[in-house]
Amino acid sequence: MSSPYQELKERVFSANQEVPKRGLAIYTFGNVSALDAARGVMAIKPSGVPYEKLSADDLVVLDLEGKVVEGKLRPSSDTPTHLVLYRAWNGIGGIVHTHSSYATGWAQARLPIPIYGTTHADHLADDVPCTRVMSDEAVERDYEVETGKQILECFGRRDPLHTPMVLVAGHGAFAWGATPESAVYNAAVLEELAHMAFVTRTLDPTAARLSERLIRKHFERKHGKNAYYGQK
Ligand SMILES: [Zn+2]
Repeated sequence: MSSPYQELKERVFSANQEVPKRGLAIYTFGNVSALDAARGVMAIKPSGVPYEKLSADDLVVLDLEGKVVEGKLRPSSDTPTHLVLYRAWNGIGGIVHTHSSYATGWAQARLPIPIYGTTHADHLADDVPCTRVMSDEAVERDYEVETGKQILECFGRRDPLHTPMVLVAGHGAFAWGATPESAVYNAAVLEELAHMAFVTRTLDPTAARLSERLIRKHFERKHGKNAYYGQK
């Protein structure tokens, strides 16, 4: 136990291992980070290391300005995107980035995922938003920071903990949560919702969105102040 960040690194390591296990990434695709808000640091997967070669000691710890405070490897190239989101949003403790197939399919089609059914409404009361396409100038400026800004712009005043996922147009998916474990859960939920919505739209290109009443009912029985889903 030499590192003060050991527990944070162990959690981020386990969360990263979940990503290929849930079928959300192959090879080195994707990354998970977690925030230790009290210490003002985040830990993230190193760049270009395959999941099966990863160990907790490989994880990189950075402050919220992006300065490495522990770790020998280079952090994931998407680190600046994670930092933009942690700095902007309170209550986010973990972020996952994937190019999972169905979510990325919608992102590449530049389409939000409509809330077609109650599985979706159990998790969020909105369509999964899709950002605008990034301008050439922004790509040249600071690509990964601009990706974070694109997400913030897309979210506006939306509560990120009520809609814990987004599609980045032409790119892939980001999901997050209060913890790194919940962020991975949300990334897996996003992929499942994207898959279901794809099937729905394929069977019926004019399929209707779920009624507002059913959306509210399903979202609130799990998340509202009178939630009654699951065990007390
Ligand atoms: Zn990516």
